[in-house]
Amino acid sequence: MAAEHPAQEPVRFWDYRDDYFDRRRAILERVDAVFASGRLILGSRVAAFEERFSAWCGARHGIGVNSGTDALFLALKALGIGAGDEVLTVANTAVPTVAAIRAAGAIPRFVDVEESTMLMDAQAVEEQLSPRSRVLLPVHLYGQAVEMAPLLELAGRHGLVILEDCAQAAGASYRGQRVGSFGAIGAFSFYPTKVLGGFGDGGMAVTSDEVLHEKLRRLRFYGMQGGYYAEEEGYNSRLDEVQAALLDLQLDGFADAVARRRRIAALYDDGLAGIDELVTPVIGRDRDHLYYLYTIRTVQRDRLQAHLAELGIETRINYPTPVHLMRGYACLGYCRGDLPVTERLAGEILSLPLYPALAQSSVLRVVAAIRAFFGA
Ligand SMILES: *Cc1c(COP(=O)(O)O)cnc(C)c1O
Repeated sequence: MAAEHPAQEPVRFWDYRDDYFDRRRAILERVDAVFASGRLILGSRVAAFEERFSAWCGARHGIGVNSGTDALFLALKALGIGAGDEVLTVANTAVPTVAAIRAAGAIPRFVDVEESTMLMDAQAVEEQLSPRSRVLLPVHLYGQAVEMAPLLELAGRHGLVILEDCAQAAGASYRGQRVGSFGAIGAFSFYPTKVLGGFGDGGMAVTSDEVLHEKLRRLRFYGMQGGYYAEEEGYNSRLDEVQAALLDLQLDGFADAVARRRRIAALYDDGLAGIDELVTPVIGRDRDHLYYLYTIRTVQRDRLQAHLAELGIETRINYPTPVHLMRGYACLGYCRGDLPVTERLAGEILSLPLYPALAQSSVLRVVAAIRAFFGA
């Protein structure tokens, strides 16, 4: 059957190769320059990118690390968080948010999300506060900032420290201020798929606090300040020179990449308007959206996903199981029903193909396939 009907090119969810082939020369020149420099770890390119990226975020310092998970983990260590301390976060997130909290020895306390934006709900935080609450860890999911004003107010009132998970939203802003600069520390991932993605693993913690800055710098380098002497117990978590050199190039192209993402999102918004059974992404007040993910909602999610797959259209669910219901986190003692909005959304969300180099014709094919599914 497949041979008789040559399938159309599949529409991939994400693919970096068109972009790579477009800019191959510039990319390989950067790699070559690092290899020829004689310095592969913690050299001038990491230092320059730390400075450029943190300034771009509106923070004074940046500390390049191995991954976004490490940025979160080291941030919690730098804040002195450990056994018995509670960290308030959401269950509609990537596992690493929670893995980092556990790695630090702390206890994640999950709060429900706001239905429209699917992001942390300040009201729900208030209900989960306990005397052991120490950190508020909002996740700027899908490329959109969490509404920060009520969280900042609440944190101030209850003496909580804010650590922002910015892994999916580098460059997103709330009231004109970029994420990562609201809390004590902002944690970023440069995993290849992210809005600012490298060509391997990488991450960064940004802060404007001098003490946290020094501490983070030591923690990522065996607790050492220089010489072979640990001032405290530390770790090894470094951004390498090649990734820093390439991320610097990616930052040059960031505005263009986001403009492309927004054009694709606008095509989806227009094309999917007026379908009663489907909700397109909602932008909360005072914010912009980078469309790291274009996540729609429909109660017919599973059937729609199967229909699209049959037509060669790849989609994802971010995320199919909220973290509090995963076997790996059963130890935290949560059950179904604890986070009603998060749990319901998990059964309805579907992320459509979206990356800067995705062709308009592919986007229109996805739109047509969805409209056909709903008979619209
Ligand atoms: C990707 C991601 C992380 C972890 O980043 P890594 O670089 O993969 O360790 C953390 N939080 C969220 C919300 C993410 O999407």
